[in-house]
Amino acid sequence: MKIAFVSSEAVPYAKTGGLGDVAGVLPQALEHIGCEVKLFIPKYSSIDEEKHDLHYCWEIGAIPIRVANHTRPVYLHRATLPNSTVEVIFIDCPHYFHRGTIYSNAPDEDERYILFNKGVIEAMQRLHWAPDVIHCNDWPTGLLPLYLKDNYSWDSMFDKTATVFSIHNIGYQGKFSHAALFKGEIKSEYFYPGGPVEFQNSVSFMKTALSFSDVITTVSKTYAHEILTPEYGAGLDGILRQRQNDLYGILNGVDYSVWNPAVDRYLPFRYSHIDMAGKIKNKQFLLEHFNLPYNPDVPLIGIISRLVNQKGFDILAQTAESLMQFNAQWIILGNGEDNYEDFFVFLSQKYPYKVGAYIGFNNELSHLIEAGSDLFLMPSKYEPCGLNQIYSLKYGTVPVVRKTGGLADTVHDWDEYKSQGLDSGTGITFNDYSSAALYHSVQRALHVFWNKPVYQKIQQNGMAKDFSWERSAKEYLQIYKQTIKNTKSG
Ligand code: ADP
Repeated sequence: MKIAFVSSEAVPYAKTGGLGDVAGVLPQALEHIGCEVKLFIPKYSSIDEEKHDLHYCWEIGAIPIRVANHTRPVYLHRATLPNSTVEVIFIDCPHYFHRGTIYSNAPDEDERYILFNKGVIEAMQRLHWAPDVIHCNDWPTGLLPLYLKDNYSWDSMFDKTATVFSIHNIGYQGKFSHAALFKGEIKSEYFYPGGPVEFQNSVSFMKTALSFSDVITTVSKTYAHEILTPEYGAGLDGILRQRQNDLYGILNGVDYSVWNPAVDRYLPFRYSHIDMAGKIKNKQFLLEHFNLPYNPDVPLIGIISRLVNQKGFDILAQTAESLMQFNAQWIILGNGEDNYEDFFVFLSQKYPYKVGAYIGFNNELSHLIEAGSDLFLMPSKYEPCGLNQIYSLKYGTVPVVRKTGGLADTVHDWDEYKSQGLDSGTGITFNDYSSAALYHSVQRALHVFWNKPVYQKIQQNGMAKDFSWERSAKEYLQIYKQTIKNTKSG
């Protein structure tokens, strides 16, 4: 089966969050189970051509693509995804993609991804490659299902091609002014209140995808249920309920060749569930780096996150002063909204022996924090899947999470399981989105830490869990097959 995987980011080329991890690894996992996969991403100027061995497609040359009534040349480059034979096709348009960041708040953000969506289709035409399924991801790829069914419906090459759209985060919807219709050559007949591309009087790329793709998936079973409700649907719950029969939840996997303390190339000290000595050494190394004192009885709580509301930092900030009274240390790695960045810097200055903060994006440090922390906190308001809690399980770093989305599907509360007569809990969870619930769960986690036999049992339970991509890839393959069957019979 031929799969085109389309994403605005993918490791190792470009990453701002979980989507980048998924798009760099799921194609490989699909290849391992017999699919022929090509990955399509924009060629941002931050992607190093030499380091990643990119080759310009001379045989194709410039492809003229019209956006906002300007025709611009688009170039293709190819590379091979490391450790696989997955071909990566880079859509290169310097005018749009040679900017300092992956996403931007520029007024032509819509144009950038209009060009990308058209560029992917035109690239497949030039490569004479008709996939069975085009798998789109999040709003930057949201117009593609519409284009295939409408603007490019003349091309019989795609007659048998089905579209799958994955929601990685419904909070980011790609909402633009009416002008996007003209810029993207989207028929105005689709734009009316409640229509397939209209949302809150804007053009929504995410809604367009939900209207036109053959199947919709999201990244955990719990999130698939949650987004059907007004509380979590971010206004798109109505259309999702209409398409409920085509909506599936498939949990993301983890690349254990990278995220595994036994082989992690970023760690100064490797370790496994059999010998945890390296974990303590990583903790010492990490604390030293942040100029924090080491005491084996003082638990270290790690946080690695985009610093945005979604991640629960408002309830954390409300109870931060109380949390600081605990005999615990904290290390925070993140960047995002100014108020949260400033807040964590302020905490680290006010409590220099308790709190370390690194404001920025640092992949290497994220590995060390996973390995060196005793507990890992994710108090998210909503969490489609979440990866860090899954990494934490593998690193023996007991996760403390709010029970929502993928966090609910991957972390099992120790006490809740205990009360059912099971000692298979893997972390500490809480339900209410409140600073009080957060405070009590941290308190519970600290007591667990000080009760060594229980703490070690939870660590071992977590480390034994397997969230590798193979299982998820098989579920996607099932859905692709089903989609193709339905598309053909429909
Ligand atoms: P989201 O996609 O909502 O940001 P996920 O938990 O799905 O959340 O994925 C986040 C990914 O980005 C993880 O791999 C995490 O380690 C990484 N990450 C987030 N913030 C940083 C940061 N400041 N530095 C390094 N890695 C980060």
